[in-house]
Amino acid sequence: MDRVARGRARAIILKRVKMQKRERLEIESLVNLKWIARFVLLMVMSAARSYAQDSAQVPPPAEKNPGLAVPASANVPRPEHRFWDKENAWLFAGVGASRTLDYFSTLNLRRRHDQEILVTNDLVDNHAAFAVVEAAGTGVSIGASYLFHRYGHHKLERWTSIVHIGLATSGAVRNYCLKTAHPKTSP
Ligand SMILES: [Zn+2]
Repeated sequence: MDRVARGRARAIILKRVKMQKRERLEIESLVNLKWIARFVLLMVMSAARSYAQDSAQVPPPAEKNPGLAVPASANVPRPEHRFWDKENAWLFAGVGASRTLDYFSTLNLRRRHDQEILVTNDLVDNHAAFAVVEAAGTGVSIGASYLFHRYGHHKLERWTSIVHIGLATSGAVRNYCLKTAHPKTSP
């Protein structure tokens, strides 16, 4: 009688733990999807806006009548900078570093036979291909920055890298945190 009750209690606890784990995985995959969707949306929107701006832009013939023309510096809110300036070089290095961190954290996660949510396990287990995916992520990010720069959105140009670094780094940190999964004690 007592043994039956104990067995039943253990079964209930096991079931609850399993459910909690599944819930956690579901929440994480949802969060990941949301981030990806946001990033893609941002890029698509910027591309569309750049395209519209490009087709609408007509350079004013300011040189012909200098008396009426507004000084060129008054029209441009920010001075043009070289695309590969110091700030971008650091930001792109940061994107590459955070992607590398993500690469190793994901492999680390796989070694512990956890499920990688973002990409299929087959892809992660093929290390070379996975490295290419990470490098491509960096390339796409730099490409998006370049498009922003080209069409004069210099703030968005920087933010592309900053947001990318933030997402990749927090993803990597989460991957490593899943390993230990110590219960947090609030101060
Ligand atoms: Zn720029």
